[in-house]
Amino acid sequence: MTSGNSHPKYRRFRFDAGSLSLNFVATVRHRGAEPRDLLTSPAALRKWLHLAGFFPIDTSPSQNEYEEAVLLRESIHAVIKSIILDAQPESGDIARINQASAFPPAIPQLHAAAASVTWETDNPVKACLADIARDAITIMTGAERNRLKRCESGGCRMLFLDNSPANRRRWCAMSICGNREKIRSHRQRKQLQNHDDQTATRDKKLL
Ligand SMILES: [Zn+2]
Repeated sequence: MTSGNSHPKYRRFRFDAGSLSLNFVATVRHRGAEPRDLLTSPAALRKWLHLAGFFPIDTSPSQNEYEEAVLLRESIHAVIKSIILDAQPESGDIARINQASAFPPAIPQLHAAAASVTWETDNPVKACLADIARDAITIMTGAERNRLKRCESGGCRMLFLDNSPANRRRWCAMSICGNREKIRSHRQRKQLQNHDDQTATRDKKLL
């Protein structure tokens, strides 16, 4: 049988988690059940950085930078998860986020006609990772902290920022997990009802 998560749509990056660092964390899909890591190589990381809208400079991560990026992603995931679950974060994860955040940001330099820009940095990949780490620190410690959520779908468990006015969102996206969960609970209710009906009919026959 093919796994439900082998559909091509589960091989796509998601950019709807609500912030840069959460979108980065979401490059692992289905953390709850069958995790699928979409950042499988330095080339995949380069593609993600491009799609995430980072400055138009060549970011070709080395193997080391790629591994650093994956470790940073997992540290951000671990710390945000601990915030949501009201647990103590690991000091190693905090240190890794701080280290990434300390790298100087890329500096934009405007060209003469004011129509283009060069981004100056000693290391484009580290500058991108620093932006991601800073975004993570901002959402962990700012007003958005209370809006950090984990999708209630057991298979998904995607981390997201709940930007709804009531702050009562339960799923990463209604169109992905919300509808599926609704259908599932509807089926369960139906099965329970059928079971109750059958029991009632049997009891009636016994009378
Ligand atoms: Zn979800």
